[in-house]
Formats: sequence, structure tokens, C-alpha cells
Amino acid sequence: MSGFPRRHALRAGVVALANFIIGEPLKRGVQAETRHSIFDAHLHIPSDDGEVFQWNLITRTMPEFVSYLDKCGVKRGVISSARSNTAKTPEDYRLGNREVAKYAEKYKGRFRGSCVITPDRIDEALREIEESHRELGFVWVGEFCNYMTGYKYDTPEWSQVMQLATKLNLVMQIHTNTREMQYLADNFPDVTIVFPHFGSSPDDVFKRIAIVASHKNACIDISGSGIERVGILERAVKEIGSERVLYGSDFTINEPSSVIARVTNAFLTPEDRENILFRNVERLLARAGKATGKS
Ligand SMILES: [Zn+2]
Repeated sequence: MSGFPRRHALRAGVVALANFIIGEPLKRGVQAETRHSIFDAHLHIPSDDGEVFQWNLITRTMPEFVSYLDKCGVKRGVISSARSNTAKTPEDYRLGNREVAKYAEKYKGRFRGSCVITPDRIDEALREIEESHRELGFVWVGEFCNYMTGYKYDTPEWSQVMQLATKLNLVMQIHTNTREMQYLADNFPDVTIVFPHFGSSPDDVFKRIAIVASHKNACIDISGSGIERVGILERAVKEIGSERVLYGSDFTINEPSSVIARVTNAFLTPEDRENILFRNVERLLARAGKATGKS
């Protein structure tokens, strides 16, 4: 409206600037972020055989999974199968990964598939990673959770998995304790590794942030324990930079919107929030899978 008094406009400008200086979220920035759809780096789909990661089951099927994400405003995500994480045999994780491919296709443009294996029969595991890359188009592998079936990351077999990820330029998402995180970040500098979760104690959280900060190949996804502690996200962005901090929820285990609320309310710039909520995952996916010449 042309008749809007000039002094009101000036006052509004001063208020907006003051908000920015003391670090409050800018409403206009938040609106802009909402228009770009949030990309969740850490989703576990319910399996067709009934395996669902949820303590008390309320979202049992893929339509229920998707409609819950809709409630939370999560329009895109990287999905992996609960069935693959608990696989006792290669057949189990192959079935899980094919369910992922089926749903990535069914909800095209919404989800990107991720391959999960267990490394006990290593030749078959490596073959599955290659096949899921070549035939299913997956460029993301994990989340690997070694505690679920009891394998270790500091083994010759796991080194083979990491070497294959280097060769194919895949993003690895690996659930670790802090010692395992340090080992993997130190020993595989050519692999892009996404480490989920901040941790459950201040000491743990600060160490994990420091490890990611000092390894350019590492990113942290902010799902799970730690994100509910106010100030941790701000510390991660300060030490690591917002380009390697990824929004993830760990749904169907955890609530996606509580993590989004922390990102939205955090003392960050709109650019940081955009990086965290969707740009970083987009960037990782866009450059993964293309040969780098490393092996
Ligand atoms: Zn998870």
C-alpha cells in the first residue's frame, strides 16, 4: 500500500535488524525455508514383514509412515529398511533393500533409497552394495547399526565395505559410539561419512562435534540423543559449519517435528537453517555416485 507511513517502515526495519543482531529467527526466513521442502537424512521405513523400529507401534505401514511425515512437514527423505538392519542372512537385507527401492519408486521424487547390509558374509554384502548402486540407483548406504546384529567396524571386512564406498563414491551413514567414530573418521578420509546423533552426555556430545569438525569427510545428522539439549545445535554449527550438519529424525523411532522445532528456534541464520534442513542432503546426494578416481 503506497500510503504506508514511512516512519512505520523505518521502525519495522530497525526491529528486524535488532532481531537479527540478537539472533532471533527471522520470520520471513523461516517462511522461505518452509517453501523449500525439508529433507530428512535419516528415515527407517516399516518393512512389509512387520519389522518396524518403534517402541509402541502406531505407524505400521508405508501409507501411515508417509502421512505422519506429512503431519510433520517432512516432504523428502533418505529411507532405509528396518528389515535390512536386523538381517540374519543376505536374503533378509536383499529383501529389505528391494522394499526400499519399491517405495522410492512408488513415492517418486519424495524418497531416495539407501542400502543396508550386514558384513558377516562379506562377498555377498559387497555384491549387494554394488548391485543396489548399479541396478537400484542407490548412492547412500546405511544407516549401519553394528550393535543390532553384533559386528564391528575395526575389521578387515568393514575396511572392504569402506573401500567399496570410496570406489563408488557412496555416502556412508554409520551409527557409532565415540571411539568408533574417531576410528572411522581417521582411517577413511576419502569416504563421506554421516554420523548420526550428538550423544547422551556433554562430554560425549562435545567430543563428537570436535571429531566431525576436524574431519572434512565427516558430517553429523542431528537425530536422536542430544538435539533436545538447547545450545548443542548452535555449538555444532559454530565448530563444524552449517554445511556439514544435517537434519535427520530417526523416524519411525523418533519424532521428526521436535528436531525441526529445534532447528527453527535455534540462534542461527536463515542460510544455516536452509543448509541443515535440506541443502546439505541435496548436495551430498547430487555429488555421490560419480567416479572420483579414488579407490
Ligand atoms: Zn536410525
